[in-house]
Amino acid sequence: MAKVIHVKDLQKQFGKTHVLRGISCDIAPQEVVCVIGPSGSGKSTFLRCLNALEKPDGGEVVVNGLAVHDPKTNLNTLRAGVGMVFQRFNLFPHMTVLENLTMAPMSLKGLSKAEAVSRAEKLLQKVGLIDKIDAWPSSLSGGQQQRVAIARALAMEPSIILFDEPTSALDPELVGEVLAVMKQLALEGMTMVIVTHEMGFAREVADRVVFIDQGVIQEQGPPSQLFTAPQNPRTKEFLSKVL
Ligand code: ADP
Ligand code: MG
Repeated sequence: MAKVIHVKDLQKQFGKTHVLRGISCDIAPQEVVCVIGPSGSGKSTFLRCLNALEKPDGGEVVVNGLAVHDPKTNLNTLRAGVGMVFQRFNLFPHMTVLENLTMAPMSLKGLSKAEAVSRAEKLLQKVGLIDKIDAWPSSLSGGQQQRVAIARALAMEPSIILFDEPTSALDPELVGEVLAVMKQLALEGMTMVIVTHEMGFAREVADRVVFIDQGVIQEQGPPSQLFTAPQNPRTKEFLSKVL
């Protein structure tokens, strides 16, 4: 199987807390994987290991052919291929929407200002926010800020985007507009790993759902299978609380 993410026996500890206890997971190009599980089970830590924001204590993480554990790997090169969207829209507050989108492509990818602006305009069209190009982040709704954050991630032309509970901080009426943008990306073939509590979205959009609990993958499978006929008692118990 072709794979863009290869994780084998991933271990991560914080002091005495053994958070990831042997996670193995390969992800194929254009695959959409939703990661679900209880709070504190290691979902964010897993995601952060995928773009080397956390250093694994053991096991292998290979992303786009670059091994996180290999000291020769340039982690900035690795991260440039992996976009990340967090729960809290962390736009740069002192920059306009346009500046948020053009800064990294100009400074890290060497785009000219004209190229970066043109790319930003296209992406703002895509997420439905071209009219906000000169706005300050603080003037936008949470849903709009999160759509800008997605556009900003896309501006680096990553091959993979990681989402960590991208709608958890939003008012309920703003969740749909963000999920719609994510669904569009999935349809266009972006490889996505999404930690989410939006089970309806996972059911509709995910190719595979991964249930993490107690630092291991307890169960995984296509949503049709995992949501309707979970095999592991822990999955059943978790789903009974969230569905
Ligand atoms: P989830 O995203 O599933 O809620 P996390 O990956 O954020 O879980 O956290 C898993 C566990 O690791 C929690 O007990 C959390 O307190 C701990 N943890 C996460 N990051 C750190 C850190 N930087 N330092 C110490 N403990 C951490
Ligand atoms: Mg988390």
